[in-house]
Amino acid sequence: MITTEIDNLAKKVKSDFPFFTNNPDTIYLDSGATSLKPQIVIDAIVKYYEVYSANIHRGVYKASMDATEIYESTRSVIKNFVGADDDYEVIYLRNTTEAMNLLAFTLNKTKNQLAKNYQAWQNGFEKGDVILITESEHHSNIVPWQMIADEKGLEIVFVPILQNGELSQNAFAEIKEKLKNRCVKVVSLSQVSNVTGIIHNLEPFRTFAREKGAVFIVDGAQAVCHHKINLNEIDADAFAFSGHKMLGPTGTGVLLAKKGLLDNLPPFLGGGDMILDVTKTATTYNKIPHKFEAGTPDIAGVFGLRAAIEYLDRIGMDNILNWEKELLKYGMKKLDEIGVHVFGPSLSDLDRVEKAGVLSFNIPGIHPHDVGTILDEHNVCIRAGHHCCQLLMQAWNTSATNRASFYLYNDFSDIDKLVDSIGYVKKIFKK
Ligand code: PLP
Repeated sequence: MITTEIDNLAKKVKSDFPFFTNNPDTIYLDSGATSLKPQIVIDAIVKYYEVYSANIHRGVYKASMDATEIYESTRSVIKNFVGADDDYEVIYLRNTTEAMNLLAFTLNKTKNQLAKNYQAWQNGFEKGDVILITESEHHSNIVPWQMIADEKGLEIVFVPILQNGELSQNAFAEIKEKLKNRCVKVVSLSQVSNVTGIIHNLEPFRTFAREKGAVFIVDGAQAVCHHKINLNEIDADAFAFSGHKMLGPTGTGVLLAKKGLLDNLPPFLGGGDMILDVTKTATTYNKIPHKFEAGTPDIAGVFGLRAAIEYLDRIGMDNILNWEKELLKYGMKKLDEIGVHVFGPSLSDLDRVEKAGVLSFNIPGIHPHDVGTILDEHNVCIRAGHHCCQLLMQAWNTSATNRASFYLYNDFSDIDKLVDSIGYVKKIFKK
């Protein structure tokens, strides 16, 4: 059942998620790690296997051609969902991590092919070139760059965060000044932090990338699930997300990138489907997007991803974000009342800072893993750890936090249960 009203969205959608039928007493507050899946997504995956089952692109028979049609037309569904026009191409991958690796490793192989569109790229990566990212990045937007930086002698420059998790605009201004005469080849950051939920303003980063003639990359893993994306406005050269955080199946990810970039990058993986012609001595590559999609893809996953997008579209991304904001305010007030420290923007910051439904918190004197384990005994699922954001943890001088992340199927009673369980933890530890 689907509604466009935010008035208790959870009540209206909860029955769409079979997880709750199978786990009626579970409070699921870990959608930042992966979301639950509605029945129609599961049905779409099953339907592929039951009705089509054939491989795509290769068959000259009906089942294969029909599967190919759905698989291929889903690219337009994705583009509509994120507001991307025909400048963008959709590449199907496994997840955001694979997209970031594809970008890092193919850029690393590039020489001067990008020079026409990106003036920093008169040559490939050279010793001393700069990659600009931020302290609030997920490891998937740090480690691939470090891997190539080591090889080529590149410098990774990190825009620091303020104590509340916002990116420091003053520090960014100083960095820009310091980099005045440096070759910045890549600017890459996440739109929404998986630890603070802050929806970052991307505009200053895009402007800087354009000034420098750099490639501008956005990690949209926590963005597409929580709010409406307008990729034409973001104007990223490349934008990546994972299906599993937005009600879709695991193993599905998307890289949306400008044709002017993709056309000039070498392939990432070699094999079937990504070729036009193979001889003993050479291979001619297929056109984009196929050049970047070697081998049999997760066809059923794409069917499921399409169903997830159609479901989210019917509910409305604005309704989802508004509902999360209600939960967020309620949760922040409640945690404050019981003396739990919430990382990231304060309640008063929320007038100014856009934030999705993610709450990272610590109970002074109690390790997050102990909190997570005891909450599990109360059927409350939260995340405890560094959330693949160790730089952020270091900036906060901690090794781990607890994280409760909300989505459309959570409601105020879930937060009450979280708060009651935390109260119990505090009692056990006498805090
Ligand atoms: N970027 C952000 C902001 C994330 O939160 C995550 C996952 O938590 C990722 C990237 C990586 O996503 P995946 O594990 O699906 O590749």
